[in-house]
Parts: sequence; C-alpha cells; structure tokens
Amino acid sequence: MKELVVISGKGGTGKTSTTASLAVLAGRCVVADCDVDAADLHLVLSPKVLDRHDFYSGHQAVIREEDCSGCGACLAHCRFGAISSRAPAEELDGGLRAARYDCENCIVCRRSCPARANDMIHAMSVAMGVAGGGGFSVDPVACEGCGVCVNLCPEKAIDFRPRLCGEWFVSQTRCGTMVHAKLGIAQSNSGKLVSTVRQEARRAAEKQDVPMIIVDGPPGIGCPVIASVTGASMMLAVAEPTLSGEHDLKRVLQLARHFGIPSALCINKWDLNPDIAARIEAYCREQSVPLAGRIRYDRAFTHAQIQRQTVVEMSEDGVAADIRAVWAAVVAQLECGRAEVRA
Ligand code: SF4
Ligand code: SF4
Repeated sequence: MKELVVISGKGGTGKTSTTASLAVLAGRCVVADCDVDAADLHLVLSPKVLDRHDFYSGHQAVIREEDCSGCGACLAHCRFGAISSRAPAEELDGGLRAARYDCENCIVCRRSCPARANDMIHAMSVAMGVAGGGGFSVDPVACEGCGVCVNLCPEKAIDFRPRLCGEWFVSQTRCGTMVHAKLGIAQSNSGKLVSTVRQEARRAAEKQDVPMIIVDGPPGIGCPVIASVTGASMMLAVAEPTLSGEHDLKRVLQLARHFGIPSALCINKWDLNPDIAARIEAYCREQSVPLAGRIRYDRAFTHAQIQRQTVVEMSEDGVAADIRAVWAAVVAQLECGRAEVRA
C-alpha cells in the first residue's frame, strides 16, 4: 500500500483542488482529508457519510455549583483566566474578604434584595455561609484542561470531563472511501485528530485491499502537518510562485527531509510569475527534490469547483493535461522510490 500526502506549506496554493484531481485520476483509492482545521475536500468530492464518530481529546473542568463553597481558590490559580465569578474580581479580592471579617450577619442585604441579584449581596451571602456556591464557572473555550483547579478545590467540586473536540467520518465518494473530520470551534489537538483520520484511512484501505491512500494535508509545518506526513510513502509539495509560497515551501521541504519522506514538487499557477517559479525549481534541483510538474493558471479550476467537480473530470486539455502529467510523474516516483507505507 502506498500513501501519498499532498502538502503546501502555505494555504491557498490549490492543494485541495489538486488532491481531488489526483484522487479522481487514481481511480481506486482511499482519500483522507487531514486538513481538519479547515476541511474542504468534501466540497468537491461530495461524500455520503456512512459512519460518524465523536472525537474526544484532553479534558475540560466543570464546576458543580451545588458543591462549590465559593472559596475562590480555583479562580486565583487558573493561569488561563478560564474561571470567573458573578462577583467582580475587586470584590472578591477586597469586598469578599472584608465581608468575611466585617459582616455582622444581620442579613438585611439579603432581605432587601428579593432577587439576590446584587453581586455584593451574593458575595456577602457566600461570606456568611448562607449562599451555596460563589457563582463560579469555567469558560470552556479558555480552559486548557491543565487540571490545577481540580486538584486544588478543597470541596472536590470540579469535574474533569473528557472534552468533545469534534467528529470524524467514514464516507463514500465517487473516488472510493473517504475519511474526514471536523474539528470543533476553538478546539485544539488537531494533530491527534489527523492521526485518527490517517489510521482509519489505512484501516479502510487494508480492509478493501486498495493499493493507494491519497491524503490532503494541512497547511503550515506544525503538529498537524507532522502528523500527516510521518511514515508516508511520498510527499507532493504544491507551491505557488509567490514570495510567501517560496518561503513556506522551503520550510515544508526541510520538514520532509527531517523525517526522511521522499518529496516531489508541483508548481501551481506557475505562469503567474515565471521568475519565482524558476527560482523555486532551481532550489528544488539543489535539494534533489524532483519536479513532478507545473500547472498553469486557469479559471477552469474554479468553474469545476463551483460545479463540485474536479477539473480533470471536465476536460482533457489545458490545465487538466498539466495535472495528468503531474499524476504520471508521481506514480513513476512512487513505483521507483521508497514505496511501502512505514509504520
Ligand atoms: S483545568 Fe486548568 S485551565 Fe481549566 S479551569 Fe482549571 S485551572 Fe483553568
Ligand atoms: S470550585 Fe472549588 S476551588 Fe473553586 S470556588 Fe468552588 S470550592 Fe473553591
């Protein structure tokens, strides 16, 4: 089994459109969309979801208000500012303390406020021990799941629940099985989700005896990219001829070299700036990274996307011929290079 990972370094180079075209040209493959932070391969391949799974990663602190005494220890020690109280901080720091020591327990304030809505009244009620909890709560977006508050809480009033970070899917497309995912809003640990998607793609390929996995990788060189390329048979870097495209391509090729992944270059929209395209090619020659091909700029790409198709399904010539040439070069390199997926 071979696993081709398409990477770009920089976003917006046409990586996903190219990946979709390669998946169509492969004929029989499993497709994995590892760009889980901003998945969009489904827009072109129109997957029909067969299986849907929750993705849990890390933990989330949740205060059980009925068990909270309002001591404020969690708020004082959370380094991520994730805990808040209905009482303003200055009242907690000053007013609440003052209430602890100075309150005569006359409860006039509580009697005079039928809704008990006043923050100071609430703080004083807590200080007097006549109000349950302190209105403490955890902001689920800001909580990093470090567990400090859970360990410090004297009342053991904080649950540490597995965090639901997203979903992953096994779907059917016109190219074969597709494994893809959706990371929840403001959720992290996309590297772990990428590993899950790749693992499930391999499982599907083995089960169906499919010889090729094509992975749409995330942009950048961070954790999700590392999780996408490690152990792959080959990385195809899709670059655009711009200064930032050139810069980010160099970084992603360094990453591939570090992990010992055979690479090839594809320059998309090369004719928008032939000088930078030539410079990128020269750099890749120096680094012994073969050129799989150049793809010209063509609005047919966009027109195909609007119709939820790939450009190779709409045409044989022009930009579609460029992509066919890239695919032929990739297949040749996969066949003569390091071929098998490594564990
Ligand atoms: S688990 Fe850590 S980040 Fe989350 S609320 Fe508790 S102390 Fe703050
Ligand atoms: S949750 Fe625990 S640590 Fe936080 S205010 Fe309540 S009792 Fe204190």
